[in-house]
Amino acid sequence: MTPAVPNGPRPLIDGFGRKISYLRISVTDRCDLRCRYCMAEAMTFMPRAQILSLEEIAAIGDAFIARGVRKIRLTGGEPLIRRGVPDLAKMLGRHLATGDLDELTLTTNATNLARTASALVDAGIRRVNVSLDSRNADTFRHITRWGDVAQVLHGIATARDAGLRIKINMVALKGLNEDEIEPMLRWCAAEGHDLTLIETMPLGMIDEDRTDRYLPLDRVRDALAERYTLTPLDDRTGGPARYHRVAELNARIGFITPLTENFCAGCNRVRITATGRLYMCLGHDDQVDLRAALREGGPAALDARLDEAMALKPLRHDFHIDKRNAAPAVERFMSVTGG
Ligand code: SAM
Ligand code: SF4
Repeated sequence: MTPAVPNGPRPLIDGFGRKISYLRISVTDRCDLRCRYCMAEAMTFMPRAQILSLEEIAAIGDAFIARGVRKIRLTGGEPLIRRGVPDLAKMLGRHLATGDLDELTLTTNATNLARTASALVDAGIRRVNVSLDSRNADTFRHITRWGDVAQVLHGIATARDAGLRIKINMVALKGLNEDEIEPMLRWCAAEGHDLTLIETMPLGMIDEDRTDRYLPLDRVRDALAERYTLTPLDDRTGGPARYHRVAELNARIGFITPLTENFCAGCNRVRITATGRLYMCLGHDDQVDLRAALREGGPAALDARLDEAMALKPLRHDFHIDKRNAAPAVERFMSVTGG
């Protein structure tokens, strides 16, 4: 049992002494796109009957906040294809007003951002992460299998006009978008968006061999450093990205390097699926069933299950991408646990 802190919540601390202050919630594993590195074209999604209601998700969020979680990100799958997600944001967002939550954010592919942006702002969301792996219409369609980049760019522009800060997430893909990294950085700088580059991770069985598209980001960073002055920043914003200032562009770029530079030592996060499974690590299968706890035992059982979960958090993931390790590290797609 975690020791009580006078006048404060009993914190969630794992077996390695790491305090859990960040929760990611996958509100649906479904998506309107099929990014090649993320999903197979033919996907089997979780049965709708097993999905938590929005009220149940809010209750689970409340339980984490009561135990000291300060930041929540709604994600998926594509969170904005689930009806009522702005209402869920509003339910969770009331903790921002009381000071019990520092930040509520969302990760989206932006296909539905134009119509939801102002409701998200009303709920208290101030920043969103948007996946944009290419600004070229043909490359974007190829990567996402059928996406329309114009719709995404319109979503981003509308969100910015509604007052949301935007961070662009770009998965670096060898031979697909590597030539677009520098133009993307310049575009982000001009538009006032941060940019984070991500290494492709071996999660779920896709239709292609990830080795063919894996682009180590240490190489990308070295290439950028030949053209720009990159200064490492201390700011880790509690996440895995390592940020650099790009002096010539007055911009910031982040690198998420699960393969080339492990960042698990400072991990402060856990994730729940749309069916209420709490996973302690993206790269491991240990989980506890929060839906059963909530439905069968109510808030007290849920709280006890959080303590059980802390003992299961592994020290680190063990991702490899090479021809000898072609199989995914876990069968679960990133969209199930919430990226
Ligand atoms: N649909 C939303 C989106 O695309 O932003 C939210 C969910 S998506 C799973 C969250 C992030 O995970 C996206 O930035 C996406 O590019 C990234 N992602 C998905 N599968 C990945 C993988 N296998 N390796 C690395 N990043 C991945
Ligand atoms: Fe959908 Fe996001 Fe996965 Fe692309 S990365 S398929 S948008 S969940």
